[in-house]
Amino acid sequence: MSDQNPSTPSPLPPLRDVIAAHGLSAKKQLGQNFLFDLNLTGRIARGAGTLEEGTCIEVGPGPGGLTRALLDNGARRVIAIERDERTRPILSEIQAAYPGRLEVIEGDALEIQAHTLGEAPRRIVANLPYNVGTVLLFQWYRHITDFECLVVMLQKEVVDRLAAQPRTKDYGRLSVMTQWLCTVEPLFDVNPRAFTPPPKVTSTVVRLTPRPQPLVPCRFDVMEAVVAAAFNQRRKMLRASLKGLSGRYPGMPSPEELCAKAGIEPTMRAEELSVVDFCMLTCTLEPFTDPTRNA
Ligand code: SAM
Repeated sequence: MSDQNPSTPSPLPPLRDVIAAHGLSAKKQLGQNFLFDLNLTGRIARGAGTLEEGTCIEVGPGPGGLTRALLDNGARRVIAIERDERTRPILSEIQAAYPGRLEVIEGDALEIQAHTLGEAPRRIVANLPYNVGTVLLFQWYRHITDFECLVVMLQKEVVDRLAAQPRTKDYGRLSVMTQWLCTVEPLFDVNPRAFTPPPKVTSTVVRLTPRPQPLVPCRFDVMEAVVAAAFNQRRKMLRASLKGLSGRYPGMPSPEELCAKAGIEPTMRAEELSVVDFCMLTCTLEPFTDPTRNA
């Protein structure tokens, strides 16, 4: 570990100059929309609270705008996972400017167990590649208690779904799974013009703070299956939509019986159920599932 004061910014050239010097052009297929505004990257970094302990895990540092902000805001240790090997020389310059504080993993974040990286407390802080954003969230949800918080930038419409309440059009699988495990705080919106190149949509930075316990403890895989079955046919009543579960859980009771045991009307539709209602259905179904099949 270096003895450099973690809150002292290192003199690195402006990001635009660095990108020009390295000839780095954004690749759409990697979801590359870069941030150069230091005020903005600083706000995102500060959204994760105190950074002096543990590890910040950044997915997709790209040319390192947010990485620098994390380091300038006192992050003891940043582990950054980046797929694009063209960014390697730029990130090496940041490593040199902040000795011992930045580790770069070249690879696909989808294949990396982020919850095992570095020391706790672990915070994910990232301007996520939007094409894999929700897949990554679900991956992290499986190990949510290993994280102190997740502060991520996503499309605004995705954040609206994370935070949505029952009986609204945005309420769905993403809302239920997220709110079951975390409290959701949208922090601020970001105009497309803040990015290079600008994406088509407005973005939002959101903070997800894991609950010490899920709203109601139940098995992740069963909860995921119940929620998916219900919302895959969101216009249908539960007595019809939950039939889809019997292929996966052949010994389960009929949807009507399941709902009755859980104290839920089988004529309700997915979007009318609270997160706790979904937990009740899941807990009721669990004894009829195979606990060794946790996938
Ligand atoms: N953090 C930078 C910023 O804010 O300017 C770049 C953010 S850009 C929206 C997303 C970054 O994620 C890109 O650098 C891209 O190469 C990287 N990326 C895309 N898919 C990835 C994956 N599966 N694993 C790791 N990095 C990925």
